[in-house]
Amino acid sequence: MCTVTKIVTLSNGYACRKGVDAALLHHIMLPQHVIVGNGAIKSLSSVVTDVKERPTVAIIAGPNVWKKYSDVFLESLGRVKEYSVFTARTPSRDFAEKLAAEVAEYRPDIVIGFGGGKSIDLAKYVAYKTEKVMISVPTSPSHDGIVSPFVSLKGLNRPYSIRVRTPYAIIADIDIIADAPKRLVRAGAGDLIAKLTAVRDWKLAHRLKGEYYGEYAAKLALLSARHIIEYAGEIGRGSKEAIRILVEGLVSSGVAMCIAGSTRPASGSEHLFSHALDVLYPGRALHGEQVALGTIMMMYLHGGDWRRVKNTVEKVGIPIKARDYGIPDHIIIEALTIAHKIRPERYTILGETGLTKKAAEQLARITGVID
Ligand SMILES: [Zn+2]
Repeated sequence: MCTVTKIVTLSNGYACRKGVDAALLHHIMLPQHVIVGNGAIKSLSSVVTDVKERPTVAIIAGPNVWKKYSDVFLESLGRVKEYSVFTARTPSRDFAEKLAAEVAEYRPDIVIGFGGGKSIDLAKYVAYKTEKVMISVPTSPSHDGIVSPFVSLKGLNRPYSIRVRTPYAIIADIDIIADAPKRLVRAGAGDLIAKLTAVRDWKLAHRLKGEYYGEYAAKLALLSARHIIEYAGEIGRGSKEAIRILVEGLVSSGVAMCIAGSTRPASGSEHLFSHALDVLYPGRALHGEQVALGTIMMMYLHGGDWRRVKNTVEKVGIPIKARDYGIPDHIIIEALTIAHKIRPERYTILGETGLTKKAAEQLARITGVID
């Protein structure tokens, strides 16, 4: 039973009121606007004025993105009182705090993240710290953070997400996103394939540990993974229609996290493996690539159709061998043996004791991640 007087979201995604059993209420924060399509950025002005007539706007953007798209962005921003551009330099906690302090001094009504994952995550964090409305305008589809109420920053002591607020709006312009490097597009597909094992891990934690499990959120996350399986070839070729399917999948996965109130539907043992690689051998493979390799291996442990997963990953165009990224085999094995320690409260197929070195090596060899 809860003892608070207003509705609040709890860490498990439940919300409660005084005298009300927490399990009876579920507080879901969804984005108000999700606009996906060719030329979607033109909707920016109407979304902005929906928040406030002639607002002050803080734009957080990467330098290259700003150089390339500032004209189209400012044209779409419409009549605002004033705006200021803050450069997204590095996705570290220290930089995010500094940026939040600078933006707070500027006193905007709205914070807009414009760019790749780094700019979006920084903007989400800054908006959360300054208690401002956040609008997400992604320029690449490399992971599902474009919608979710979670950010990944380096230097958090824990190499994974922290909870912030759901973006007020997402404006995903397919014309802009289709211009993103192909590798980022493929990585986005990898991050969605990961839902296949993330949901299995979530169900396992529910059965073995009594953890909350939300069928609807799980199905929504799985739907986005199944879409990738269906359109893997097209995504590999990078057609605009495929990019749209991928972006819609990323939005669905983000919404699944909003509904679950946690990253559970989107992140399981395959993400733990990726986080372990970030600790042991950072900067070689992209997040979506690492979790794709993780998904192949964790699906093997789950006893599922890992060959189908591998086939999809290959069709999308993500290299499946560690050496393709310059990651030594022994690092993959070590990452597999330490993954369960990365986030001990997140129960997965890796269990509480993880894999032995021998089992890890066998797993990586059988699935073809190492030779
Ligand atoms: Zn991810």
